[in-house]
Amino acid sequence: MTTVVRTSTAAEAGQGAPSGAIRTCIGCRQRAAAAELLRVVVAPDAIGKVPRPEDERADIAPGGPAPLPVVPDPRHRAPGRGAWLHRDPECVELAERRRAFARALRVPVALDPSPVREYVAGLTR
Ligand SMILES: [Zn+2]
Repeated sequence: MTTVVRTSTAAEAGQGAPSGAIRTCIGCRQRAAAAELLRVVVAPDAIGKVPRPEDERADIAPGGPAPLPVVPDPRHRAPGRGAWLHRDPECVELAERRRAFARALRVPVALDPSPVREYVAGLTR
């Protein structure tokens, strides 16, 4: 006999909730309110430059395309898919080490999160 009482599952599913939205940090994998996390995106001006595999061009560096910069989006304005993480250098490093940026942002190329690292380092100085 099991009686499981579940309340407020709607909050978990609610993507558009302006407050109380819960996101998962891609570094430490802990869930936190969106307001506590930093949104990061692939640099918008770099997205158009993602080389397609069938598009063999001479300016692609040997060993694969150059990594795309990942930039902080503190105002949540950037279009496209974002990833979330704590404003904490440790979380940036963890995310970097487990290649969580590429997975969370769903891009098939290498990413360069140094702009995010620098932003977070500046905040915590
Ligand atoms: Zn974290």
